[in-house]
Amino acid sequence: MKRVFFFGNGQAEGAGLGKERLGGKGAGLAEMTALGIPVPPGFTIETSVCADYTKSGSVDGLKPEVNAALERLEQAAGRRFGDPGNPLLVSVRSGARSSMPGMMDTILNLGLTGKTIRGLAAVSGDRFAFDCRRRFLQMYGDIVLEVPKHEFEKVLGEKRRERGASSDAELTVEDLAETVRRYEEIIRKKTGDPFPDDPQAQLWGAIGAVFRSWDNERAKTYRKLHRIPGDWGTAVNVQAMVFGNRGETSATGVAFTRDPSTGEKKFYGEFLPNAQGEDVVAGIRTPRPLNSDGSGRSLEETMPQAYRELLRVQDLLEKRFHDMQDLEFTIEEAKLYLLQTRNGKRTGFAAVRIATDMVEEGLIDETEALMRVEPEQLVQLLAPVFDNKEKSAAVGGGKLLGKGLPAGPGAACGQIAFDAASAVRMAAGGNPVVLVREETSPEDIAGMHASAGILTTRGGMTSHAAVVARGMGKTCVVGAGEITVDPEKGELRAKNQTAREGDWISIDGTTGEVLLGRIATRPSEVLQVALEKNLPPEKSPVFQAFDRILGWADKRRRLGVRANADTPTDAQVAVIFGAEGIGLCRTEHMFFEEKRILAVREMILAENAEGRRAALSRILPMQREDFVGIFREMGRRPVTIRLLDPPLHEFLPNEESALSRTASELKVPVEKLRDRVRQLHEANPMLGHRGCRLGITHPEIYETQVRAIFEAAAEVARSGDQPRPEVMIPLVGTSAEFEKLKVLVDETEKKVEKETGQRIAYTVGTMIEIPRAALVAGRIAQNCDFFSFGTNDLTQMTFGYSRDDAASFLPAYIESGILPEDPFASLDQSGVGELVAIATERGRKANPKLKIGVCGEHGGDPSSIEFFHKTGLDYVSCSPFRVPVARLAAARAALSEGKEAVSSTA
Ligand code: PEP
Ligand code: MG
Repeated sequence: MKRVFFFGNGQAEGAGLGKERLGGKGAGLAEMTALGIPVPPGFTIETSVCADYTKSGSVDGLKPEVNAALERLEQAAGRRFGDPGNPLLVSVRSGARSSMPGMMDTILNLGLTGKTIRGLAAVSGDRFAFDCRRRFLQMYGDIVLEVPKHEFEKVLGEKRRERGASSDAELTVEDLAETVRRYEEIIRKKTGDPFPDDPQAQLWGAIGAVFRSWDNERAKTYRKLHRIPGDWGTAVNVQAMVFGNRGETSATGVAFTRDPSTGEKKFYGEFLPNAQGEDVVAGIRTPRPLNSDGSGRSLEETMPQAYRELLRVQDLLEKRFHDMQDLEFTIEEAKLYLLQTRNGKRTGFAAVRIATDMVEEGLIDETEALMRVEPEQLVQLLAPVFDNKEKSAAVGGGKLLGKGLPAGPGAACGQIAFDAASAVRMAAGGNPVVLVREETSPEDIAGMHASAGILTTRGGMTSHAAVVARGMGKTCVVGAGEITVDPEKGELRAKNQTAREGDWISIDGTTGEVLLGRIATRPSEVLQVALEKNLPPEKSPVFQAFDRILGWADKRRRLGVRANADTPTDAQVAVIFGAEGIGLCRTEHMFFEEKRILAVREMILAENAEGRRAALSRILPMQREDFVGIFREMGRRPVTIRLLDPPLHEFLPNEESALSRTASELKVPVEKLRDRVRQLHEANPMLGHRGCRLGITHPEIYETQVRAIFEAAAEVARSGDQPRPEVMIPLVGTSAEFEKLKVLVDETEKKVEKETGQRIAYTVGTMIEIPRAALVAGRIAQNCDFFSFGTNDLTQMTFGYSRDDAASFLPAYIESGILPEDPFASLDQSGVGELVAIATERGRKANPKLKIGVCGEHGGDPSSIEFFHKTGLDYVSCSPFRVPVARLAAARAALSEGKEAVSSTA
């Protein structure tokens, strides 16, 4: 089977083969070539070869195909590989199916040998030739021969110091020739061999190294974070070099067809004159803008013809791919070449805006728009921003350290860490961290992930920091040039101020401002429109796009979406975000309220049911008031209220000082209180006297709660509303538990109905959170109106991992691959999920009218939501702020039904 695909001169063998085989870069090059866009000729070795190479360590079988492609490449370029007169030089680049910016290796200027350098010098001048050779030795030495990078950097640094030069551009031909000699010496010393001077040997060395880079540590970390399968492999692209470093009419740059931060439809990008590609991405020199900004430095102003051509090409590419493109280009002596096009990484803000704009422009339809936004990205749109007043006050107070480029919107405030390892360590301590670096590199990936925000002092909007932060949805400011970072001293300096590791810093990823200290945040623009109502919707394109995409999602989803809400305020937020009801109201949170806890404690200390009733009678009106508030907020929407769940000892103090204070408040001897604490103590409270077991042994507690629910419902009904309470019994394991407590609910309701004269439509159901309940679901369902899966407890009890204690070993399990991810965050579909499926099937069979939902944390997790959709649940319930995520995830689950298999843990 063919595994090497040529492209050049308007023909591309791989056009239409796609990213799976050619990788993103290879597919883009093939498509661009086929579109007639100027692309230097080359060939792509497909991704499947990577796996073969990993297994066998050899690519020998590939030689005839590569040699044939190389010959075609020579013809297309009009130069020969290894020709001492006019040599063809090539780049060898990685390119996986899904982009992994900077994680794998690339080698430029390959084919430059002791002989060919003379030919290159004759055509392009000595300086250029030696500069290329220097770059090539450094890259090849580092990547293929594994000579430490700093060895080369040291030599170059010394040379610069010797000459008093501030940049490489000031070095003379002799300086560069001397540097090349010293590089060659380093390589000979470190590897024991001279630098390979045969272009073929160089080529195969580079191809092997690119395949090996698929499995380097940073690529593996990146794959783990982005859930990219390890067996995809990378393709290798070998392509004729074009030079952006051939003087002032040459340049290299990157561009986006729309703004990757905000999504605004505005061609956008950066370039460096007289430079090679890696200079832009590495963020070492701060690049210039493409569009005219009046400074006279932009591409539009300095190379208008190439700029116009680039504008034409970007428009063509967006129309071809129907998505925002991220382009890499080189201008060689005023002629434009495209080196890459791919779907650009973008923030959540940009994802929503671009998807909705493209529907309006007729480029994609609503269904496609929904698939373009990852549900998790919506969280960014709800994240807080800085309070403007506080920020102005901080600026007025001289706290503004500088301004960089707004690379990742949002507000982040955290303690300064100057390196990735410190960021990881400090974040594990619990405080938010802002990682502050001159520039980031792929090695920093774990530290960036652990940080709340990222700040760099160099680099542009397309530097490593900016691209990676955007992919992670992190707040990020780059290129804040007024700030000096001194990692050695562990401090940063700006405007006569100094900050050290651990000091607080605030960065605004929407404006680029960097401020010393902590600044209070305020709700996001979406919340300002929807909740605070102090910003009109028509003034917020972000809100409009958010609202539109969720409207489309609602038309397509089958799953209902409810919220877990315990207070009227939570309920209000939930409704604003589109919740169709409350799926879980945890009543214990009401018990903990300051004014009530004393009555709760009295109830626990009471000697008998009478005493408990007396204390409960004081709790009753307070709880009724809560329910009135929630019913009023929710109108006719269903409200599932769970009766008390936690063990009683959770309501009593533990520490000695708190014991004596509470004893005096309760006017009981401290000994009595201590005895009760001892009595209630449990070795395994998670499996102890909690949930419906409390209701069975202390029926008066549940009676009081049920009474509060129906009295509240009656009160609200009297004022014309139609509350819809759903009473839920927690932690049921046997049908007898449920039956007994259902009788209690029904009888209590009847009493209240008689007293108030109000008939309230209600239902009684149970949580399914004990594996046994899932198995005997058929029996429980017979007399039950609904099930709600408590997947937190169900996960705990299915795995036998305590929810409270699992943190001591779960990270090690995930790290070593025993578990693919935290089962408390994303449902274990093959184990816990199987119980969900069994209970759903048995429950429905016994009672076809049974309504089924889920209210554990998994109700807000997109991949779990997809599973619940497929399993046929009626609704998911999650925290109010995740309701938009769940709405979109539910729509995407409906749209992709049948398209993909569900991933699972064995
Ligand atoms: C559950 O167990 O999934 C649940 C929702 O209940 P809680 O988290 O309150 O135990
Ligand atoms: Mg539970």
